[in-house]
Amino acid sequence: MVWRGLIAAFGDRMNISKAVPPVTLFEGNTPLIPAPRLGASLGVDLFLKYEGLNPTGSFKDRGMTTAITQAAAEGAETVICASTGNTAASAAAYASRAGMQCVVLIPDGKIALGKLAGALAYGARVIAISGSFDDGLRMVREASDKAPIALVNSVNPARLEGQKTAAWEVTEQLGSVPDWLCLPVGNAGNISAYWLGFTESGGDRPRLLGAQAAGAAPIVLGHVVDQPETMATAIRIGNPARWKQAEAALQESNGNILAVTDEEIFAAYRRLATEEGVFCEPSSAAGVAGLIKRINEDRTAYEGRKIVCVLTGHGLKDPDSAVRGIPAPETIPADVDVLLKSIGM
Ligand SMILES: *Cc1c(COP(=O)(O)O)cnc(C)c1O
Repeated sequence: MVWRGLIAAFGDRMNISKAVPPVTLFEGNTPLIPAPRLGASLGVDLFLKYEGLNPTGSFKDRGMTTAITQAAAEGAETVICASTGNTAASAAAYASRAGMQCVVLIPDGKIALGKLAGALAYGARVIAISGSFDDGLRMVREASDKAPIALVNSVNPARLEGQKTAAWEVTEQLGSVPDWLCLPVGNAGNISAYWLGFTESGGDRPRLLGAQAAGAAPIVLGHVVDQPETMATAIRIGNPARWKQAEAALQESNGNILAVTDEEIFAAYRRLATEEGVFCEPSSAAGVAGLIKRINEDRTAYEGRKIVCVLTGHGLKDPDSAVRGIPAPETIPADVDVLLKSIGM
């Protein structure tokens, strides 16, 4: 089958308008990559759903094809979102595709360079606010109430209609439903969407393992975090929009949510790249960090199980994190003998 994006593939199972042709960049259909080395060291059968290979480099494209198609069907000419970065890049790309204006609000100074580059390249109007993501979300909700602007954050139900398709892809690629699905949790749209997808399939469902950053862990702590802090900027969220829905999903799945420190996230991020050759952004490694932490606490629920970790965004989104803590490349003369000596041969 020639791949023509998520609405072409799954539109009959999506609750969105079919009045206009899909606005698509042929998103979805991302690989489920086995992680045998990391899996063996953890004693599990581990797979990575590499969402960084979507058209703008994150899973946000799954929900944006549906949200922008729905907005087009409703006659929207301008869309708006608050974003820690990936939603901005995705909304900007799909808005361009649809011939719409896109306005994005970003928290001042807290956005990874590759995400800002995307949003700007796609021609969005990017506005930084002196406030957090949560402040931005409040502002765009109000703006879309007061003016004819379509809101495309994951509070928009059309977003989940697209994002839920990842659950179906995972099941098909694995040949069964995994025992555990592990993923980072920020606004909790993605964990809610996966659960919706697995539930709509009507068969077995995985247990969910959600991971929040320790400095931005409202669901784990049970209260809003006023000043969320983490270098995993995509999950730097103190008041998740889909908090209640995520809690219900975690409970129904007999799952777990835990906090992981930036050090634990960063260690998992390095291991994915150096042991498996899969480069994701730091936030994306939170699910793996959570899995490693849980296995160290209580091996029995995980041992020998089929486990899928969702890697939500591409490593090139955040080049600064990639080079942090690694010495700059050494410079040598253009001499092969010096080269061999410097690599110890
Ligand atoms: C948006 C995002 C998340 C968090 O997803 P939520 O739906 O907000 O929980 C995690 N990782 C990356 C890379 C993201 O862009």
